[in-house]
Amino acid sequence: MAKRDYYDVLGVDRNASGEELKSAYRKLAVKYHPDKNPGDKLAEDKFKEASEAYGILSDKSKKENYDNFGHAAFENGSSGQGGFGGFSGADFSDIFEDFFGDFGGGRRSSRRRNSNNRGSDLRYDLSITLEEAFLGKKQDIKFSTSEKCNTCKGNGSKPGSSPDRCTYCGGNGKIRSNQGFFTVQQTCPQCAGNGEEITNPCNDCNGQGNKQTSKRISVTIPKGVDDGTRIRLAGKGEAGSRGGASGDLYLFINVKSHELFKRSDVNLFFEFPISIADAALGTTIEIPTIDGKKAKIKIPDGTQDGKQFRLKSKGMPFMRRGDYGDLYVQIKTEVPVYLNKEQKELLERFRKIENEKSNPSIKKFFQKAKSFWNN
Ligand SMILES: [Zn+2]
Ligand SMILES: [Zn+2]
Repeated sequence: MAKRDYYDVLGVDRNASGEELKSAYRKLAVKYHPDKNPGDKLAEDKFKEASEAYGILSDKSKKENYDNFGHAAFENGSSGQGGFGGFSGADFSDIFEDFFGDFGGGRRSSRRRNSNNRGSDLRYDLSITLEEAFLGKKQDIKFSTSEKCNTCKGNGSKPGSSPDRCTYCGGNGKIRSNQGFFTVQQTCPQCAGNGEEITNPCNDCNGQGNKQTSKRISVTIPKGVDDGTRIRLAGKGEAGSRGGASGDLYLFINVKSHELFKRSDVNLFFEFPISIADAALGTTIEIPTIDGKKAKIKIPDGTQDGKQFRLKSKGMPFMRRGDYGDLYVQIKTEVPVYLNKEQKELLERFRKIENEKSNPSIKKFFQKAKSFWNN
């Protein structure tokens, strides 16, 4: 099913202020909150949809990415993504706590997911060449992480036994204490908010529910990635403890510098040296392009040092778009060195027949210098 526009979901226009967003979300969240609509799948979906929309639009950088790229900004998993963090359900526990700290009072006493149990995010640094960034690539990466324990299926209890209700918080996962006029609610320190205590810990994982392991996954580097691009692979980080959500894996891309091409955003650049004869008489040059092929540029006669030629769409691909940046070729005329006798003679002859018309800059300069001396 196609995702709805986040602004439509919240029923606000694109210029809505932070307060307007918050108020729109609060209305929807109160209306569709699962505690108010038990067993109503549609309400639950609406609630999730609104929470997701608010989660993105209330975060400045995520909102910016959404405004620029739409839902594509937060695609994850094997398709990969670049440059920014995406959406994660676990991020919203804070908002829920904020709005629904004690909503309806009807806490489910059974296992409850808590952000404290969420697995850690992992960082993986990956170096690729400019050509690989141009084409995009699939790569296997290997890293050490924690995975759900198979023996206890992640619940931390010895097979055959089950966790008991936490005696400290009575299974609520929260404890309340009175401090002066205030009642403070805190996550239960005994069960870390689980509401449960492991009385017979699993031998394989010591009751943690997960184990350290080495993992290999295949990742897709989208074409157009730049140095410093961050790709988030949701849920590919460390396993959460005792049923908590997995963390995310972040790929940090390093694009190695290239011996020929210099990159600036999506544009490429290099200097092309030509002889003064070619620059003066004109020629056609063959230049390398990042796709491994060649392109031809016609150099007109009288081309000066530093002249730039632009080859449209011969640069790097824009991420998530079909088009490409440009390639800039800058002409560098080389004054010949180590001349042999014949070359010297020819240049001497040339020097004698050079005139003001063939060297307009020189003429101009000396006119200025002359009037300077005369004043
Ligand atoms: Zn275990
Ligand atoms: Zn507890």
